[in-house]
Amino acid sequence: MSSGIESVLTETRVFPPFPNLVEGAAISGMKEYQALCDEARQSPDDFWGRLARENLNWTKPFSQVLDESEAPFYRWFADGEMNVSANCLDKHLATPTANKTALIFEADDGKVTSVTYKELHARVCKFANGLKSLGHQAGERAIIYLPMSIEAVVAMQACARLGIIHSVVFGGFSSKSLHERTVDVGATLVITADEQVRGGKSIPLKNAVDEALSMGGCEAVSHVVVYKRTGGPVQWNEGRDIWMNALSEGQSDQCEPVSLNAEHPLFILYTSGSTGKPKGVQHATAGFLLWALLTVKWTFDAKDSDVFWCTADVGWVTGHTYITYGPLAAGLTQVVFEGIPTYPNVGRFWEMIQRHKVTVFYTAPTAIRSLSKAAEGSPDYHPREYDLSSLRIIGSVGEPINPEAWMWYYTNVGRERCPVLDTWWQTETGAHMITPLPGVTPLKPGSCTLPLPGIAAAVVDEAGEPLESGKGGFLVVQRPWPGMIRTIWGDPERFKKSYFPSELKGAYLAGDGAQCDADGYFWIMGRIDDVLNVSGHRLGTMEVESALVSHSLVAEAAVVGRPDATTGEAVVAFVVLNGPLPEGAEAAKVAKQLRDWVAKEIGPIAKPKDIRFGENLPKTRSGKIMRRLLRVVAQGESVTQDVSTLENPAILDQLSQAW
Ligand code: ATP
Ligand code: MG
Repeated sequence: MSSGIESVLTETRVFPPFPNLVEGAAISGMKEYQALCDEARQSPDDFWGRLARENLNWTKPFSQVLDESEAPFYRWFADGEMNVSANCLDKHLATPTANKTALIFEADDGKVTSVTYKELHARVCKFANGLKSLGHQAGERAIIYLPMSIEAVVAMQACARLGIIHSVVFGGFSSKSLHERTVDVGATLVITADEQVRGGKSIPLKNAVDEALSMGGCEAVSHVVVYKRTGGPVQWNEGRDIWMNALSEGQSDQCEPVSLNAEHPLFILYTSGSTGKPKGVQHATAGFLLWALLTVKWTFDAKDSDVFWCTADVGWVTGHTYITYGPLAAGLTQVVFEGIPTYPNVGRFWEMIQRHKVTVFYTAPTAIRSLSKAAEGSPDYHPREYDLSSLRIIGSVGEPINPEAWMWYYTNVGRERCPVLDTWWQTETGAHMITPLPGVTPLKPGSCTLPLPGIAAAVVDEAGEPLESGKGGFLVVQRPWPGMIRTIWGDPERFKKSYFPSELKGAYLAGDGAQCDADGYFWIMGRIDDVLNVSGHRLGTMEVESALVSHSLVAEAAVVGRPDATTGEAVVAFVVLNGPLPEGAEAAKVAKQLRDWVAKEIGPIAKPKDIRFGENLPKTRSGKIMRRLLRVVAQGESVTQDVSTLENPAILDQLSQAW
């Protein structure tokens, strides 16, 4: 492992916090933030112990905060007992929140249905009783393969209530991916729908389940519960298959939550697969919920009056932490959306913010970049055409947000009065780790700013030694935190090797490159595996990509290295333009313009040798650029790697033409 990464981009814009958001914020002002950081540093056990007692309802109190005896297999609050579903639903029943709207569900076709906390509790209880009646119980694993729906939240919460460990598989995945995950977790139960509806089209889900289960190795699955979404045709396997509504019908709306050990696994979730074979990340009950709830309170400064909308799918960790668990534990009203941002038109997100008076909006850079490109081409659906005055906070997650995309979001969606929260975290971290706080942090476009209280983030070299500011290296977390990954399901060795390599003195290795500036702000430079090495200069992908995106013609860009006889590695850039796909002389002309632009913005060293144009980039189904595939394309080879998580395989051909 070599750690040094050079920083080549300078960003000087700073946006101080808005005074109206500082006042009354959950963490208000830099002094309060510092005090919490100090408390956590001086006495971590007291800090986390206090927060766990204040924020969670325990059925059996814990006597020890952190058990490090088998590090890095850390155990938190390990002799305590509680139930996550009780902490998301039951705790509100004796308060005014009981009759508050919990979920506002907007279907693909625009139809809106909503449920209060009391109603959601009843639905979860009935479904949990139904699962119990089939004989399912704590410790079993359930695969959830559902579209975005109230039912998806009900299914996850019902599992949590009974201690059934869920593993949600995104509805866009094929039967092959579904099969792999079903076998890997050893599922006994699958919860799915007949079909899902996205962008006006129905896509079968139950068929994919049937196919996956017929592939062998899934014999332990005794029941397939099916939510009837469209009434489309399905095959029926008598004795195994059962409709979700039939299962809940007639069941009691009371179901005692199972008192579970704090370390009982809450869920297993596979990572996006941007860098390789997805890992089954295992999270624990109490620590995960504590961190999910605290970050909803701190980062999003949750208010009782908020209408919270996280656009992620529950198939990703963002949908777990910031739809199913954190916001419900905080008693918020939230929007759940079935469809896609471009249907029936590219103004769908903005129209929904207007319709539901959304106050906190949380989405991904890929959506921001593609919607900004679309808005410039379709002025009628530009965010300025909508009333977005309800918004107070806007956030971003999943990838680095390039400074130009940040500025577009800040100006056109936030209208220069909402902070953009660039939240850095991972499936493995459970919830936010490094992020601005609305009442505390001056913002710098392109920086995820400062670690949350209790998070000992640092940038270190390959021996685990902290690097001085401005020097790029490995992003690590030097102390455990409650929301952290517990292990990789079924592969503790891979867990130790991937996240706690012996050189790093017990720190958690995130796998991202980063640097800290003189103000202690973190700048993610890209993934360690993707670092470019040009004539001995190690460059992160983020900065070269941001330079390209800052050119007015460019909507999106990805860069990778290709072996080169003179420079060791040459930079190859894959570019999506704001306009149509260029060809011939036009493509050559734009390619030259962009090469010169990069040379001027960051220096000749980063100048791309090849530029390739495409209508899109290869992305995971969660919208992340897959540079490992682009590396293969850049070398003129055909892709033989695992592409099961790739959204649009056809795009690889288009990108093989060099200019
Ligand atoms: P895999 O681990 O299988 O390659 P993945 O890392 O894409 O998949 P996730 O856990 O969903 O799976 O994503 C976490 C990663 O996303 C981070 O490690 C980082 O590379 C990137 N990321 C997330 N948020 C940000 C952010 N705000 N800024 C920069 N990068 C981010
Ligand atoms: Mg990862």
